[in-house]
Amino acid sequence: MIDSHCHLDLACFSDDIDAVISRALDVGVGHFIIPGIDPTHWQQSQTLAQRYPQISYTLGYHPFFLPLSLTHADIPALIDSLKLAISTSCIGIGEIGIDRTLALSIDIQIEMFDAQVGLAQQLGLPLIIHHRKSHDLIIGRLKQAKFSFGGIIHAFSGNQAIAQAYIDLGFCLGVGGTITYPRGDKTRQALLAVGLEHCVLETDSPDMPMHGRQGQRNEPQYLVDVLKVLERTFVGHDVVGKTNENVQRLFSLAVI
Ligand SMILES: [Zn+2]
Repeated sequence: MIDSHCHLDLACFSDDIDAVISRALDVGVGHFIIPGIDPTHWQQSQTLAQRYPQISYTLGYHPFFLPLSLTHADIPALIDSLKLAISTSCIGIGEIGIDRTLALSIDIQIEMFDAQVGLAQQLGLPLIIHHRKSHDLIIGRLKQAKFSFGGIIHAFSGNQAIAQAYIDLGFCLGVGGTITYPRGDKTRQALLAVGLEHCVLETDSPDMPMHGRQGQRNEPQYLVDVLKVLERTFVGHDVVGKTNENVQRLFSLAVI
């Protein structure tokens, strides 16, 4: 299995990262993608990727971590520093996004999103996208940009029509802890309708704990819980093989 979204660069993993990785490897999670959130964390992702051949990373500005004081005039410098930080070991741009529940102005979020999508298009890199109450905006901006390198819609939740709109734009749907809860039924149905060839596995560690593990730090080893639900949803399908293949295709990763 590949955990396509785990924030192993965060401080809450710094004391026991070796144990976290080895617990995951023990249950069959063989590769990890760390999405970038802000420049203060990018270096840690790069360091971890050098230390563990099983770790890959993307770099980007997550809207949650942007300063509230951010203005239009600040954006070009942020994009320049992202461009400078990207080396050949960086496999994509993200976690970028638009989130209507944040205090940061939507106009500034859209401008940052567009700028990072533009950079990804220029460099030929896939995206990892965060959404909250913003599918309409994200789908609209990706279409407007004619973005053509695909990526992952992190923590997909929504109906079949929304899922299909992303798939038509070349994206896969990130499937995580949400589907382990009874309320994940609508999303499970949407995934079943669009098919496994558009799904990838993720934990969002340390966030989004699995059903029954609320209040605990989430870890890549619990990807097994997501796998079990997907195997019950797609009876008789090779969930691990198919989702691995999807991540490898999106990020041009070598066979894991
Ligand atoms: Zn994330």
